[in-house]
Amino acid sequence: MRRSLACFTLALTLCSAGARGQSMPPAPLTVIRAGTLIDGVSDAPRKNQLIFVRGERIERVADGAAAIPAGTKVIDLSNATVLPGLIDAHTHIFLWGEDPAKGGYDANILKAGIALRAARATYAVRRALEQGFVALRDLETEGAGYGDIEIKQAIEEGTIPGPRIFGATRAISTTGGYNLEGYAPELEMPKGAQLVDGSVEARKAARQQLEHGADWIKVYMTHRSWVDKQGKLVSQPTLTVEELKAIVDETHGWQKKVACHAYNGIGMQRALDGGCDSIEHGLEITDAQIAQMQRQGTWYCPTLSAYYGDWALPDTPEGKRDRARAAVHEITFKKALQAHLKIVFGTDMGGIPWTEPIAQEFGQMVKLGMAPMDAIQSATSRAAEMLEMKGEIGVIGTGAYAEMIAVAGDPLKDVGELEHVRFVMHNGAIFKNEMAK
Ligand SMILES: [Zn+2]
Repeated sequence: MRRSLACFTLALTLCSAGARGQSMPPAPLTVIRAGTLIDGVSDAPRKNQLIFVRGERIERVADGAAAIPAGTKVIDLSNATVLPGLIDAHTHIFLWGEDPAKGGYDANILKAGIALRAARATYAVRRALEQGFVALRDLETEGAGYGDIEIKQAIEEGTIPGPRIFGATRAISTTGGYNLEGYAPELEMPKGAQLVDGSVEARKAARQQLEHGADWIKVYMTHRSWVDKQGKLVSQPTLTVEELKAIVDETHGWQKKVACHAYNGIGMQRALDGGCDSIEHGLEITDAQIAQMQRQGTWYCPTLSAYYGDWALPDTPEGKRDRARAAVHEITFKKALQAHLKIVFGTDMGGIPWTEPIAQEFGQMVKLGMAPMDAIQSATSRAAEMLEMKGEIGVIGTGAYAEMIAVAGDPLKDVGELEHVRFVMHNGAIFKNEMAK
């Protein structure tokens, strides 16, 4: 908002200055000297590079020997590795953990008023930016309505610091397909998603969410999961193919995309047959379904970290379920790697407390066999492509937004370095610089 207004004002000023035969000075140049540059696209890093930044964009990237005009501000990151700002493609800025000891998921909705939730979301987006995450695909507000779009507005108008937000607003599931549940049946409980039944309601919900600014539509294709007598993970399906197709058709008409939460089984198959653009979590995807994802160009956002911590006790139904989930997830992730599915980095932060490092997901991905450079690209150029921002974010190159981070060590040797981001530039402005100390 603020930027477009500023551009408009600038254009007016340019006109009047032009009429008087004068010209506006260009935005000042800043040059970043990168000891090592991982540009988000190239297979290998480059040593000793100069990144020329003017305004909020990168003008060019040059070899370290290139001339720097006199008087230019130079930021010395010659002892650091510079990378594009990171993208988390699956977050919940309005979710404040799901720890059973703190009331679990339900406490988010039952115990916190909307102002408290907005304050927590404000904290979450700041935390993300501090850790070098310059863009979030935020996949539903968990009962906080259109709050994500309003937080995005507050960031864009400069009221609060935060990353670029791609918001999904309320999300869509079916009756019996989302929390809050387990209360007395005569109680009308609030729900964490918009519940629909039938294609007409499904399309209407998509229209309502798109009208109120949804950048993506998020749907739940599975809900509860448990382990059956044979020890296999089973997930309850939610929307039918017809309901999903109505949502996808409507959303694609608005040139937007649909993200599908799907664990496995019937719901996973319906997600693919209904034309989902991205599969979220995808704990158990069969070979045939992986082939279908390849054919359809479906994105895969595995969110591994969310399933590898905080398991319930082994002998409880929840404990068995938690272990079964992680066991199949690992197999699926490795198959997805082999099949070269389009894997994007996502964490489910919010379900994971916002106080924890977002970059822990890199460690999980690499532990399960992903190359560090591939993992980095899943959180930079590949995520940018999914968000229709190819060449604009997730890359350090000519014309891109000046979004970059720096770490002291080599993340290709130890991807854990990405949990210690020392420098953050967002839209051409330095948000954090601990390298100077
Ligand atoms: Zn999620």
